[in-house]
Amino acid sequence: MMTDLAPPEILEKIEADADALVGRAFVSIAAEYFAQTRARADRVSTAHPPAELSARFDEPAPRAGRSLESILTRLRSDVLPDSNHLCHPRYVGHQIAGPLPAAVWTEPITAALNQSLAVFEMSPVGTVLEHRVISWMCDLAGFATGSGGTLTSGGTEATFTALLAARGAVLPDAWAIGVGADPPVMLCGEHAHYAVTRAAAELGLGLRNVLPIRSRDHKMDPDALRQALDQLRSSGKRVMAVVATAGSTATGSFDDLHAIAGLCDDHGVWLHVDAAHGGSALLSARHRHLLRGVERARSVAWDPHKMMLIPSQAGMLLVRNERDLDAAFSQRAPYLFQGNDGERVWDQGTRNFACSRRADVFKVWVALLRYGIDGLAELHDYFCDLARVVWEEVVERPDFEAMHEPESNILCFRYVGDRSLDDEALDQLNRELRERYNLSGHGWITATNLDGRRVLRVTMMNPRTTVSDVRDILDGLAMVARSL
Ligand SMILES: *Cc1c(COP(=O)(O)O)cnc(C)c1O
Repeated sequence: MMTDLAPPEILEKIEADADALVGRAFVSIAAEYFAQTRARADRVSTAHPPAELSARFDEPAPRAGRSLESILTRLRSDVLPDSNHLCHPRYVGHQIAGPLPAAVWTEPITAALNQSLAVFEMSPVGTVLEHRVISWMCDLAGFATGSGGTLTSGGTEATFTALLAARGAVLPDAWAIGVGADPPVMLCGEHAHYAVTRAAAELGLGLRNVLPIRSRDHKMDPDALRQALDQLRSSGKRVMAVVATAGSTATGSFDDLHAIAGLCDDHGVWLHVDAAHGGSALLSARHRHLLRGVERARSVAWDPHKMMLIPSQAGMLLVRNERDLDAAFSQRAPYLFQGNDGERVWDQGTRNFACSRRADVFKVWVALLRYGIDGLAELHDYFCDLARVVWEEVVERPDFEAMHEPESNILCFRYVGDRSLDDEALDQLNRELRERYNLSGHGWITATNLDGRRVLRVTMMNPRTTVSDVRDILDGLAMVARSL
């Protein structure tokens, strides 16, 4: 018997690391990052290609542990400078946030507690808080009692989960026997996020059973949807779901949910709204009208890690009827889940793909407590106003051209110089321009293909970006463009 088994020697080090001073040393690196980026002095991103960055870390896995000082030094010198500085005021790129500090400071607590959302017994407070936050968000969406949902890793998982639930509603036996040789079809706007087509493939429907509906002004054309649904009805084809987009990835446009919900009601079809990006408009008295009709959807994907500026991961799926989500995962693991018949199951593991799952709800809850719906709405409205400022500047300047008027916080535009180049040459120029500009370190933007053209794209979701930053970014782009 090993009755004299001593504690592991490493425990001493672990206990020393648990001290608040050590914690503060790590946290102060994050605080330095917040301060440095505020000052605009640093580059927005790296100019090093992957091979160079990779060489920096090219060493064997350490056999012996190292000193905290050496690790903190490496975080400062090797990690921070060449990461993307989303908190830099001239970062206006992808739809991922320079995160809200109160939510960031919650992360060490979430990690320390390490609750798992699979079952109530593993996360007593985490589970009830997840239900609480979901319930707040359901209220904002206009869902009544009986609604529910789950946090997810993001919009991709939220939409996948929603479509799994929709599949269960149309094909209750699919869980046991698969989708068969004649699966139902799904309809979505031609501009829908790839999460939608990906889900169709993952769920066994196959890509060919996704019918894209053409857009008008970058939004699903309800007349085209009506025609498609009528045609499917007369041909006897089953329809699993219609997916509408609230805040499209390319242009931030909102489908007409009210009209689409009406058609889905007429045809008895599941409406899923991908509001991963645009859901946060529900926080804003000025912008919530963009989602009119969302309360008639059966499921809604809404990412707090987009316009609510929560550090990832924090995605969310809301369902009008919690039972839809229960039915989606009709698998039962009796060793984990024990709901008595008729009693509401608190365990969220029956409503989510994951088994172990972080209590990401803590940081969402803290952000809501700290900044309030009004604070987050103020941010949301500022981002939309800022996108309008970019649009006005672009329209005013002869060397740029706007591709659309912004409906939210995203704008696509392109550099046209003296307008002597044709479209193909401009595609090439704008492609190169974006790469060169981002490498310069001055700012960071994205690009996309829109209506067949290569265009520049900015997402305004950085509270530090000012009107003068917007002008600086356009000046910076023009300067790089002239050098090409
Ligand atoms: C961001 C986004 C997604 C994907 O969400 P993730 O959180 O990145 O998984 C899906 N749809 C839309 C409209 C989005 O903006």
